[in-house]
Amino acid sequence: MNNKTLAESTEKESKGRTKPDWLKVRLPSSPAYAKVKKLITDNDLHTVCESAACPNRGECWSHSTATFMILGNICTRSCGFCNVITGKPTELDLDEPRRVADAIAKLDLEYAVITSVNRDELKDGGAAVWAETIRQTRLACPKTKIEVLIPDFVGNWDALNIVLDAKPDVLNHNIETVPRLYLRVRPQGKFVRSLELLKIAKDKGFVTKSGIMLGLGETKDEVIDTMKAWRKSGVDLVTLGQYMQPTLNHLPVDRFVTPEEFDEFKEIGLELGFKNVFSGPLVRSSYHAFEQAAEVI
Ligand code: SF4
Repeated sequence: MNNKTLAESTEKESKGRTKPDWLKVRLPSSPAYAKVKKLITDNDLHTVCESAACPNRGECWSHSTATFMILGNICTRSCGFCNVITGKPTELDLDEPRRVADAIAKLDLEYAVITSVNRDELKDGGAAVWAETIRQTRLACPKTKIEVLIPDFVGNWDALNIVLDAKPDVLNHNIETVPRLYLRVRPQGKFVRSLELLKIAKDKGFVTKSGIMLGLGETKDEVIDTMKAWRKSGVDLVTLGQYMQPTLNHLPVDRFVTPEEFDEFKEIGLELGFKNVFSGPLVRSSYHAFEQAAEVI
């Protein structure tokens, strides 16, 4: 399918930006959901599930899984797509690693995904807290596999190595979008820098993972070129999902990509040699992360 055909196929849905049916989800209120919510509150933690207004919260929490967000809930960056609050963080919570580990133990997670805000004001970007969180989780639950979804540490590879030395099982770092859209979508990020981070981790033998959002104005060719750039950096696992505008202050949705197009990108990705491609409207970095990683760890 060429780009014109792709655009035409979604014209109806994009015009009024009305959410198509395939993006409509309900927030169930199961006992498991309530338990996750209580644990997060009791342990005074943040999750990207809530902070980023993830549409999968009902499903994931009902299966007793969540993605913990460390280093607080105020981010030093102002990405156009992200619902996390931008500002100047005031503190570094050194007890947070213990509370995250405790929550992972209480949820009895076989596979935990941890992410963080950007803390560009810190010399190490928060790497020491990252490493401590991995260590504390290993102590509390030695069998749990750990995926870390990390920031770019502004290219401070000493900071990156502090995280890598703590030996996470999967190293995830999101590219977020195609390079042409960086100024609008991820103004403080650099496409090439993020690829370099992924390559460093791969060269050290880590399983690596990355993701982008679709529907921000990228073309089909740009998505394929981005996938090729990932392959050159040795990325193993990728995620592609639909961008959804969290509030009117965030970037608008350019268009809703159809499930069929996502399927096509999955096929292209597998042909390019990724070990696994999760591609679908509701796919997020940590969506069914355990299943995706099961093929490689
Ligand atoms: S997909 Fe990830 S961020 Fe979204 S609810 Fe599930 S675990 Fe949380």
